[in-house]
Order: sequence, then structure tokens, then C-alpha cells
Amino acid sequence: MLTAVIAAAGSGERLGAGGPKAFVPLAGRPMIEWSLDAFAGCESVAAIVVAVPPSLADASSPRLPDVRQVGPGDGVTTLVAGGATRAQSVSNALAEVETELVAIHDAARPLVTSELIEALVADLEANPDVAAVIAAAPVTDTVKRAAPKSSGIFDRAGRQNLHLVEETVDRSVLWAAQTPQVFRTAALRAALEVDEATRDAATDEAMLVETAGGTVLLREVTEPNLKVTTPEDLKVAELLLSERAY
Ligand code: C5P
Repeated sequence: MLTAVIAAAGSGERLGAGGPKAFVPLAGRPMIEWSLDAFAGCESVAAIVVAVPPSLADASSPRLPDVRQVGPGDGVTTLVAGGATRAQSVSNALAEVETELVAIHDAARPLVTSELIEALVADLEANPDVAAVIAAAPVTDTVKRAAPKSSGIFDRAGRQNLHLVEETVDRSVLWAAQTPQVFRTAALRAALEVDEATRDAATDEAMLVETAGGTVLLREVTEPNLKVTTPEDLKVAELLLSERAY
């Protein structure tokens, strides 16, 4: 069985919604509820743990009644206080996990489906020597590696908006990592046992498992699974979710 860990403790500054991104209204409900529904609808999901901003983790917080009541079967969702970084939030939530497998998911990806989650779990179960299977999409843009900003090139307004191209990278082998990412819990726990600086610099958990020598597979995601970062992303997600509802 599987526990879903949902990282929802980010401040969402780039979205500019004036509150935590995971709780911003999206197609009629708080953003996080779309992900909760997808996990609660999976047969393999036994429990859900959500890392929320510390101010919301208090059981008496009036802002989260719906979130607490969504769970697999008759279960309920457990809330934990998130940390200053994504990796810290995930570590805090992992302390509550009792199953052999764990799925890590960003609340910022509300388009996730039960089908995608079940496919990732089946992939991991079918490959006993693998530590994790992650959702990913092939990179479609042509990708350039450029010199850092400090290279001293300025535009007419004196801003460092121009960058010196150093190389065009072969995109045929490049993938954009997404969530969900499904792990053997023991492998993820071991991978998180690194110094704090390394852990906190990780932009996903699979990266830490790879560094620890674990084998990670990726599954190509063909449906939209965008990460809501800007107000424009929110509009696109809103459109896709409202179309899905009919
Ligand atoms: O900020 P970003 O969009 O990269 O965050 C990815 C996910 O990680 C979001 O769902 C966010 O809520 C979560 N996060 C977290 N704890 C933090 C920072 C981000 O749970 N300290």
C-alpha cells in the first residue's frame, strides 16, 4: 500500500495571491483539493499526509475543514507543519508514513489524475530493483546553456537581461521532472539522510535518491500536468479543470 505526501507548505509568492498557493481558489475549490481527490480515488492509497504552512497545521485552524475530511475510504488526511524548504516539508511528512511505498506530490500540480498515480505505482511494483518512478515530460523547447548573469553583458537599459549562449544541449535525452514521484519509503528515507544544505538544495526528491545510488525510472506523462507558479498558470489550470468537469 501507499501513503500520499502532498507538499503544500509553500508561500506562493510568485502567484501573488496574498496567501499560501495550495489554498488559492481554483475552478471552485481550494487548489489542494484537486490533488486530494485524485489520491483519495486510488485503490492503492491507504493514507494521505499534507505538509501545510505551520500557521495552518494547528488542529483548531478554521481554514482547513474540507482538507481534513478528504481521505481514502473513511480515512482522514493528516496535517503536519511544513518546513522552510520543500525538502524539509517532505521530511516532516515522511515521519508520519507507515507504508512500504510513498508518493510525493506538489499541491501546485492540481491536474494530477488517479490514473497517473496508479500507473506509477504499478511501474514501481513491476520493477523490484528500482527505488522510484517519477512523472516526467519530454522537453519540447530547444535548450541552450548560457553563461551566468555575472558575465557583464547589459541591454540598452543597463539591465542584465542578455545572456551569452555557450552551448545548445541535445534535447532528445532531456525530460522535465514532475510529480507525483513514487518511492520505496526506505530508499527515500535513506536518501534524505544527507547534510542539511544538500537536502535543502534538492528541487525534487528523486534527485536525492539518484545521488544515493538508487535507480529512478521516469514515466512519460501525456496529459497536461502543469505546475501552477504564475497567475497565468492559474488561468490555464482553471480552464483545463472546468473542461474536465463536464
Ligand atoms: O515553490 P514551488 O512551486 O517550487 O513549490 C513546489 C511545491 O512544494 C508546492 O506545492 C509548495 O507548496 C511545496 N513547498 C512546501 N514547503 C516549502 C516550499 C514549497 O511544501 N517550504
